[in-house]
Amino acid sequence: MATKDLRFNSLTIHGGQAPDPATGAVMTPIYQSSTYAQSAPGEHLGYEYSRSANPTRKALENSIASLEGVDFGLAFASGLAAIDAVLKLLRPGDEVIATNDLYGGSYRLFTKLFKKYGIVFHFVSMNDTANAEDFINAKTKMIWLETPTNPMMNIIDIAAWSKVAQQAQALLVVDNTFASPYLQQPIKLGADIVMHSATKYLAGHSDVVLGLLAIKDAALAQELKFIQNSSGAICGPMDAFLTLRGIKTLHLRMQRHCENGRLVAEYLQAHPKVDKVFWPGFESHPNHSIAQKQMKDFGGMLSFQLKDERQEAAIKLIQKLAVFTLAESLGGVESLAGHPATMTHAAIPKEERLKIGLSDGLIRLSVGVEDAQDLIEDLAQALG
Ligand SMILES: *Cc1c(COP(=O)(O)O)cnc(C)c1O
Repeated sequence: MATKDLRFNSLTIHGGQAPDPATGAVMTPIYQSSTYAQSAPGEHLGYEYSRSANPTRKALENSIASLEGVDFGLAFASGLAAIDAVLKLLRPGDEVIATNDLYGGSYRLFTKLFKKYGIVFHFVSMNDTANAEDFINAKTKMIWLETPTNPMMNIIDIAAWSKVAQQAQALLVVDNTFASPYLQQPIKLGADIVMHSATKYLAGHSDVVLGLLAIKDAALAQELKFIQNSSGAICGPMDAFLTLRGIKTLHLRMQRHCENGRLVAEYLQAHPKVDKVFWPGFESHPNHSIAQKQMKDFGGMLSFQLKDERQEAAIKLIQKLAVFTLAESLGGVESLAGHPATMTHAAIPKEERLKIGLSDGLIRLSVGVEDAQDLIEDLAQALG
C-alpha cells in the first residue's frame, strides 16, 4: 500500500517518510550537516547545501504535505517566517483581504512591515462573504483567513471564501494552526496554501518554534520554494526532527485535547461567575453549524469572560491557576492560560480589539491532555 492511500491516523506516522535509505534507520536521522559531498561538480545525491534542501527537513515537508492532502510542503524557522514567505509572492500595489480577528503577530507583520512595501490590507469580519464585496477589485491577489480565530473562536466558512477567492482570481491562504490538519484540511475545501505555526499542535510539546506550508499547485510551490531558498528562513534539522516526532502522536493528542476542551467548556459555561464561554462546540455558538460542517471535532482552544469584567479580575484568576500555566502559546500537551489583551494581542490597538469583542477581561485557555478532572478542580479553586 502506497503511503498516499493511508488514512489520516496512519499518515501522521508514515506520511511522506520512509526508513533512511543510507542506513535503514526507522526514524529520520537529524542530518546536522550544512553541505554534501559531490562526486563531480554539480553531481550529488539530491542535496548540495542545507539552505536549499536537508534530508530531515525534507521528511517534515513531505509529512505536512501528506497530512494536508497535497504534494508540496515547505518548512521554515517559525510560523511567521512561513507567513513572510507567502506575502513575498505579492508586489507593491497588490491587495489582501484578511480576517479582522487575526493572530496578533500576523497583524503586526502585515501592518508594520508589508504595508511599508506597498501591500494594501483590508481587514473584514469574515462571518459573511458580503463584507468583502466593497474591497474586491483587480488588485485583490490574496485572501487570508484563520479559523477558528484567535482568541474569539469564530469559525469562518472556508468553502464559501474559496468561492470568493476563485471569482476574484486571488489565492486563498488558510492559517490552520488552531485546528491542525486533524480537525480540518483547508485545501480540500478550496484553499491554495495552508500555513501552520507548527510550534503549536503539530510539534505539540512546547519545545520548538517552526512554521510549515502545504501548497496545492506545483508552480506556486516552486515559487515559494524559490522564496524559501532566496530569503533563507529555514528551520534547522534538530527542530525538523522534533516536529516530525511530535506529528507522530498528533491524532492521539488531538482526540484528548478535544475531549478535555469539551469538559472544560461545559464546566465554565455552567459556573455562576462566568459570563460567556467562546467554544464552537456549543449549539448556541453563532458558527456552530459551520464548525460541524468543516471540522472533525471542536478542538482544545476556548476563551471566556467573567461576570466581573475588570482586567484585574481576569489577571487575578489566571495567577491563581496551578495546573494551567500562565504563558503565551498554545497546542502543547500542558494546559496554558493567557490574557490576550496584554499578551498575544497587545500589538492590536484597543479600539480594534473591542470591535471584535476582545475585552480586557477575556481569558484564553489552551486545554492540554492532562486528566480533565485536575483541570476542572484547578479552575474551580481559582474561581472560588
Ligand atoms: C503562533 C501563531 C502564529 C505564529 O507562529 P510562530 O511559530 O510563533 O512564528 C501564527 N498564527 C497563529 C494562529 C498562531 O497561533
